[in-house]
Amino acid sequence: MDSTPLPSPGVQRTTASPFPPAPHGMALEDEIHRLRREMNAVILAHYYQDDAIQDIADFVGDSLDLARKAAATDADVIVFCGVKFMAEGAKILSPERQVLLPDLAAGCSLEDSCPPAQFKAFRDAHPDHIALTYINCSAEVKALSDIIVTSTNAEAIIRQIPEEQKIIFAPDRHLGAYLSKKTGREMLLWNGACMVHERFSEEALVKLRERHPGAHIIAHPECPETLLSYAHHVGSTSSLISFAQAHPGEEFIVLTEPGIFHQMKQRSPGSLFHPVPGLGAGCANCNNCPYMKLNTMEKIYQCMATRSPEITLPAELIARARLPLERMLEMSRHIPSSAVGSLSPQSLQA
Ligand code: SF4
Repeated sequence: MDSTPLPSPGVQRTTASPFPPAPHGMALEDEIHRLRREMNAVILAHYYQDDAIQDIADFVGDSLDLARKAAATDADVIVFCGVKFMAEGAKILSPERQVLLPDLAAGCSLEDSCPPAQFKAFRDAHPDHIALTYINCSAEVKALSDIIVTSTNAEAIIRQIPEEQKIIFAPDRHLGAYLSKKTGREMLLWNGACMVHERFSEEALVKLRERHPGAHIIAHPECPETLLSYAHHVGSTSSLISFAQAHPGEEFIVLTEPGIFHQMKQRSPGSLFHPVPGLGAGCANCNNCPYMKLNTMEKIYQCMATRSPEITLPAELIARARLPLERMLEMSRHIPSSAVGSLSPQSLQA
């Protein structure tokens, strides 16, 4: 099967900014709050966003949490602080809302590794398989899928599918392999990967383990099996946060994007968290997702002030992509939310 080459971590798909200059410091936060009130907007942020962005958001959560919030919000505008496939998901689930993304170049290597035309050809070649597709994919690939999953609900959803039903899992081969092992289900895996989780340094992990022998090693299942084999706990971002909360005052070596430390430290103040560096000499920040980190407080202000960039999708595509997303929400209704925040943006206006 063909697989599109992954972009290097240094790739920055920047956009020229036609936007007005943003104020600084507290004035910037005040302006974002003012605009949020005026626009009746809700700000949703993923756990991999910078600390300041998480602090200003109405809700912080994983992909499942944020999809649920987008589907349920009564705000007029959704400001999505995450990457493009997430903002597209919000638009698909809430097509009547205006959805803004601070930087349209905030893509994802998993999305890039699964071009719709190739995915369609792959599906057509396996007509007896259903496609379970990780939410980290384009709207077009969602529309070609039967059920969307996240790392929080994938296992539970697979267990609801009859044993005899053959499954394609796309686009993350590492998550797919982990789920296959966990559920005992053979699945046909698409050959995609996350450029961040695939490149944690095993050597650095081993050294950290030697230096902190009592630490729990916790890992996201987008990591390759070699890295997961060291882990005491494997789970989605929300699961890693919950695991740390369940072991207060302890030490953790963490194999996922370091934006997660903000919530971990807030929810487990007495615990110690160690990031694992990425591969490469002098590579201090290469375990950061370069796409997630394109969003800044200034860009949030600017996108709210100008209502741009806005996510727009053809109605026909929204209709087709909505079905597998709604199946996901329905099949994971029993899974509790980990999001922090309040249900209505109005509550923040007091
Ligand atoms: S961390 Fe990986 S999967 Fe998540 S947005 Fe970045 S490239 Fe995509």
